[in-house]
Amino acid sequence: MTDVPTGDLIAIAVDVGGTTVKGALVDTAGRPLHEVAAPTAPADGTPVADVLSAVLAGLAARAAGSGLHVAGAGVVTPGTVDEGTGRVGFAANLGWRDFDLRGHLERALPVPVAVGHDVRAAGAAEALLGAGRGAGDLAFVALGTGIAAALVTGGAVVTGATRAAGEIGHMPVHPGGRHCSCGQQGCLEVYASGSAVARRYAELGGRPGSTAGDVAAALGTDPAADQAWHEAVQALALASSTLTMALDPALLVFGGGLGRAGERLLAPLRRELGGLLAWRAPPRLAAAELGQDAGRVGAAMLAYRAAGQGAVVERWTTADVLGRPPVVAEPGTVVPAGRRVREES
Ligand SMILES: [Zn+2]
Repeated sequence: MTDVPTGDLIAIAVDVGGTTVKGALVDTAGRPLHEVAAPTAPADGTPVADVLSAVLAGLAARAAGSGLHVAGAGVVTPGTVDEGTGRVGFAANLGWRDFDLRGHLERALPVPVAVGHDVRAAGAAEALLGAGRGAGDLAFVALGTGIAAALVTGGAVVTGATRAAGEIGHMPVHPGGRHCSCGQQGCLEVYASGSAVARRYAELGGRPGSTAGDVAAALGTDPAADQAWHEAVQALALASSTLTMALDPALLVFGGGLGRAGERLLAPLRRELGGLLAWRAPPRLAAAELGQDAGRVGAAMLAYRAAGQGAVVERWTTADVLGRPPVVAEPGTVVPAGRRVREES
């Protein structure tokens, strides 16, 4: 590795989602040079692990064709992930139980491969280059189909004894409340996830088939939307007060689908959280800044660190990791760098 000039190095970053696997070549400045996507569960029944092997091999071939040397790869995934061993303890939607993901991928691509937890990796990216810049002590809360958090203390992401730190979606907020798919009752995620908000809105007589985004858009004009949103905010405020007591964060960063509601979520949440905390000031609340790119950025950080090139990560800038180089959109058409629509509320 030491005989390869840094400028010729590239990392492979892969973000495994429930429906789509997103892969990218990321240069030493953190810029995504080439991106690909593949269905997580293809119609032909190819196992997820083999989809990932193919994505890695395809990106490695692309890099070689450009004269670049793959330093390492970072793959982030949901589930109970052991970053130290690269094994996935359990990932319900991916069909993995005590699976040696790193071993499988290193057989497909003989470079250092780092395996990370999707939310912890996204939280590390938000802490370094997003809304958490300079904070050191924060929680990044991903509000998607489910809810999970990355707990960052003293700049380090907490993993826990069984690699399950941050599973705040299953923090009880209403003892004896609604049943959760995890087997418990009253979990945060059955009140405040995107799917929970949509379901509650429908129960209250809202327009059928609405998403949490539709509910956010209807706030102030639709009493069912206001009610469903208020209940989610209350649940989230309870969980946020518990997080505040346990972690004493400087700020809480909210990402995922509901996080994109921005101040429509954060303003009422500030009020509710302030009302729950009597003897201390609440932490600052902020919306995530890296959006859906956080997983890729976190995976690329893991890749360079696994390759012994962690110093390059310290020089990355937010503009670079979110920017795009010129890409050919249609034959003869060059899209200028930086022209990109970011997903914000
Ligand atoms: Zn639960």
